[in-house]
Amino acid sequence: MSEEQRAKLRGPRTPEQCARIRAAARQRDTRGAKNPNWKGGRVLRSDGRSLVYAPGHPGAIYGGSHILEYRLIAEKKVGRPLRDFEVVHHVDGNVRNNDLDNLEVITQAEHARSHSPNRRRAATGTYS
Ligand SMILES: [Zn+2]
Repeated sequence: MSEEQRAKLRGPRTPEQCARIRAAARQRDTRGAKNPNWKGGRVLRSDGRSLVYAPGHPGAIYGGSHILEYRLIAEKKVGRPLRDFEVVHHVDGNVRNNDLDNLEVITQAEHARSHSPNRRRAATGTYS
């Protein structure tokens, strides 16, 4: 018996059956590329920082689905995953500028110092 014949025997769907079908569709996996709004996995945050889809990446945020793009770029630059306590400093202060030369991997403590107006980082890498 064909699916069409079986459907005829079943008769029209009741409103309850329709509701069940819609509910099942809602629960379908729509993460990542399965989502109709998929835009290649790139997200531009209102603060100018962009994120890329990277499920399972240890540094991923937003429930483990995305990572800040400059962290990914910086990891390639240093050739290893960044640690939790490491941050990426934008040398020119522009978080949209993810050129390799503009990204510096430093610790959170160093970062706080580098943004402190009364301290200047010397060429030796130390702070005055
Ligand atoms: Zn910084």
